[in-house]
Amino acid sequence: MFDAAPLLRDVFGFDAFRPGQEEIAHAVASGENVLAIMPTGGGKSLCFQLPALMRDGVTVVISPLIALMRDQVRGLQEAGVAAGALTSGNTVEETEAVWAALEEGRLKLLYMAPERLASGAAMGMLRRIGVNLIAVDEAHCVSQWGHDFRPDYLRIGELRRALGVPLAAFTATADAETRAEIVEKLFDGVEPCFFLRGFDRPNIHLAFAVKDSPRRQILDFAGGRRGQAGIVYCGTRAKTEVLAQALREDGHSACHYHGGMEAEDRRIVEARFAREDGLIVVATVAFGMGIDKPDIRWVAHADLPKSIEAYYQEIGRAGRDGGPAETLTLYGPDDIRLRRNQIDEGLAPPERRAADHARLNALLGLAEALTCRRQTLLGYFGETDVTCGRCDLCDNPVELFDATTPVRMALSAILRTEEWFGAGHLTDILLGNMTDKVRERGHDLLPTYGVGITFSKAQWQAIFRQMMGHDLVRPDPGRHGALRMTEAALPILRGEAAIELRKDTVRAAARRPAVKA
Ligand code: ADP
Ligand code: ZN
Repeated sequence: MFDAAPLLRDVFGFDAFRPGQEEIAHAVASGENVLAIMPTGGGKSLCFQLPALMRDGVTVVISPLIALMRDQVRGLQEAGVAAGALTSGNTVEETEAVWAALEEGRLKLLYMAPERLASGAAMGMLRRIGVNLIAVDEAHCVSQWGHDFRPDYLRIGELRRALGVPLAAFTATADAETRAEIVEKLFDGVEPCFFLRGFDRPNIHLAFAVKDSPRRQILDFAGGRRGQAGIVYCGTRAKTEVLAQALREDGHSACHYHGGMEAEDRRIVEARFAREDGLIVVATVAFGMGIDKPDIRWVAHADLPKSIEAYYQEIGRAGRDGGPAETLTLYGPDDIRLRRNQIDEGLAPPERRAADHARLNALLGLAEALTCRRQTLLGYFGETDVTCGRCDLCDNPVELFDATTPVRMALSAILRTEEWFGAGHLTDILLGNMTDKVRERGHDLLPTYGVGITFSKAQWQAIFRQMMGHDLVRPDPGRHGALRMTEAALPILRGEAAIELRKDTVRAAARRPAVKA
């Protein structure tokens, strides 16, 4: 019988579990191997702290974040739980107190930095003291492809084998690739009980818009939310300064924030944001770690984020208090080109680059989604059965049209010009525009010249953008961003598959309306 309610109330001071906590804590307390994926702030720590109190012996908690470990230990001690940490941040007295408590069998939770596992003494100690559960926080640190890779995390599997006790791993990183790596490295490839919970943030409204006049679009969006705290994410440092200025001129209280600023200036912005009502921070992704403001009412992206994970994390800063929050993400062909270039020009190995393209594709798929964005987003993280009603596509369902013919025309124009040109010139060919470039290259002689006149220039732009969004074509940085066909386009080109595109964005592009806030 799993009755954790008294502990939950008396030790942790909570009235109820958050989504997922109860099932996860139950599995951990029952001695199952567990991999749990929960978003940051979802309440992961309770899922191992509570079972630690229900089980005999010591629970070892491996975490890479010393400050966080110290906070948790302090919190537990204040609640009357015997917890201690062995980290490089300890004083000699603290370390001695922890050892003494361990030797006397008094400790319930022992927090350790992964580096400690490298020492034979620590391993010997862990064998002696009667560990009967290993909890691993930030388990994605075991992933060699991740940004947070910690080589010492690879020792955790060894520790589990040596002690022969259950292991519970926690992370907020939800992609399938990382998940597989965790199973392989921490559980020797044997599937643990798997939980994925609580990624939905139902109070956050999701919306995307085609980038048309970004400055106007952001000013309109912020203008509809005067006096509310918000963040505008930009792709470059320079842009944060320009947009913050534009917002101030429009009567907002706004400042910029990026990694190129002095630490002191950044601290001032962080402090103002925490304290003031209604400040807008226009920032690069450098603004994020450690912002803990519960009442951020909106987040806008002036440029497309780099992956679906980054998108989720950035919009997730809004509405932590549970109150309604709005988001808007702008995207256009230039964003797609920029993000692809960043991946291709990065120093990552080829497998890694392929994974990064896939994560960007997932975000583009969300941008060009045909039905509910929340279902599309959470579907990517593996959550099904999502109800929404809080996204732009639920508000205004999109109309589709059979775009097989124009897409084949576009692909044909790309192939007949040997994949050396961008959407602008390709559109001129399709529309039969006799530009200098068309004349010089003799492209007026191509069979595709002028075949696309039933669509306007703006409509062709929308079609090319959606083709990029569906990864049918990719800009090649080695060819100044010329569009090249991908494998995914072959069935359409050969007439073996049809494709539908969104009519609204094709039409909207023709009308160029101001974006709805
Ligand atoms: P993370 O998943 O990011 O590790 P934490 O475990 O630090 O999250 O929990 C985030 C916050 O939620 C903490 O302030 C914690 O006290 C609070 N919290 C966790 N579980 C509950 C609960 N069942 N009810 C209320 N608050 C909770
Ligand atoms: Zn929806």
